[in-house]
Amino acid sequence: MAASAAARTIIENCAIATVDANDTEYASGYVVIAGNRIESIGAGKAPEGLENVVRRIDGTGHLVTPGLVNTHHHFYQWITRGMATDHNLFNWLVALYPTWARIDEPMVKAAAQGSLAMMARGGVTTAMDHHYVFPKGSGDLSGAVIGAASGMGVRFTLARGSMDRSEKDGGLPPDFAVETLEGALAATEETVRKHHDASFDAMTQVAVAPCSPFSVSTELMKQGAELARRLGVRLHTHGSETVEEEQFCKELFGMGPTEYFESTGWLGSDVWMAHCVHMNDSDIAAFARTGTGVAHCPSSNARLAAGIARVPDMLKAGVPVGLGVDGTASNESGELHTELRNALLINRLGAHREAALNARQALRLGTYGGAQVLGRADQIGSLEAGKLADLVMWKVDGLGHSTIADPVTAIVFGAAAPVTLSLVNGKPVVEDNHLVTVDEDAIARAARSESQRLARIVAQG
Ligand SMILES: [Zn+2]
Repeated sequence: MAASAAARTIIENCAIATVDANDTEYASGYVVIAGNRIESIGAGKAPEGLENVVRRIDGTGHLVTPGLVNTHHHFYQWITRGMATDHNLFNWLVALYPTWARIDEPMVKAAAQGSLAMMARGGVTTAMDHHYVFPKGSGDLSGAVIGAASGMGVRFTLARGSMDRSEKDGGLPPDFAVETLEGALAATEETVRKHHDASFDAMTQVAVAPCSPFSVSTELMKQGAELARRLGVRLHTHGSETVEEEQFCKELFGMGPTEYFESTGWLGSDVWMAHCVHMNDSDIAAFARTGTGVAHCPSSNARLAAGIARVPDMLKAGVPVGLGVDGTASNESGELHTELRNALLINRLGAHREAALNARQALRLGTYGGAQVLGRADQIGSLEAGKLADLVMWKVDGLGHSTIADPVTAIVFGAAAPVTLSLVNGKPVVEDNHLVTVDEDAIARAARSESQRLARIVAQG
């Protein structure tokens, strides 16, 4: 459909932070949406005489930004929150693997809906799920997750994960929680062929995503990278999360995580990695040289006492960095808009102190940075004519924010701002702080019932 014939929505009288290359902002401006694209954006009132305007929104008292982009998550963990709360990564994993190994399709569907609803209500318009636990006979877990995202109307990347290095091979997961090398590769290829959409306005994409060096064989890392490049999709994994992981890599492979990733084909502009906390100067230089992206997960890193990722140094070196909630078994809040604030605050506890990150850099991490690491910066992540209409209208004139004059400072430094409207692909997902595509209360009930069913199965042994 030509843009001129598409239904138009106009938002005006709002502050706008476009997060374009020049950080263009308007104290009072407008956005015209035609179909699923941004048609025009600028200062002052919207152009006169536009045809086929189906909705005109007064944005007084609001800041409009690009929709938030989440770059790392594990949806299934929504039904295993609040467990192993005082553990480091390895102890936490060992405590939770036996529970995770019992998940099935109805549980994963309910957990995905819970994870997605929590994020979407807080302004996430593009979500991702790194799913790597596929117990035998558990059903179509990838289909369940993709169905949950499309049902909610959220743009989505499924990182089809895998594990094949269990305890008997020196890995961390128990033997019953892993797939075979051949099985993991075949199922990943099938998922890409069935669900990946390479088009500009794709709502569903798939990435190849072996879980981590301590749960995946070297052969699966290598063949996974080859598979992704043969199919033309992106690569995702966990990297350099903890001191223990670094020691594990040195003992098992005779090198640190970044060197190991390089030796297995896992550095490149089509790769993004979660965490990257323990990176030295040459690791950061290798990421910058190859264009490898980072999903920074500040709350999860704090929850598991992993450390502080060197985000200011990565940005200075030119490494693409986005934000991630991470799984909600290590970040129970499950929200991304609060991670803008947490990224800023936690990085100020590091070497760069008050110069580490400012409010605009934090907003960029959660929007354009996320789009970059998902390989979609041409399509989403900033508000520019021709890009997809994924945006959020934050209320900044209420109790939590009305005394903070600068609206970007208000949403980053202040309390989590209410979402008056979010659009994904030009369509409303949130109105007046509530999801309009799904029933939040029904999702909460289903997630609790599946969480209790999982606990009963585990208790029965
Ligand atoms: Zn993770």
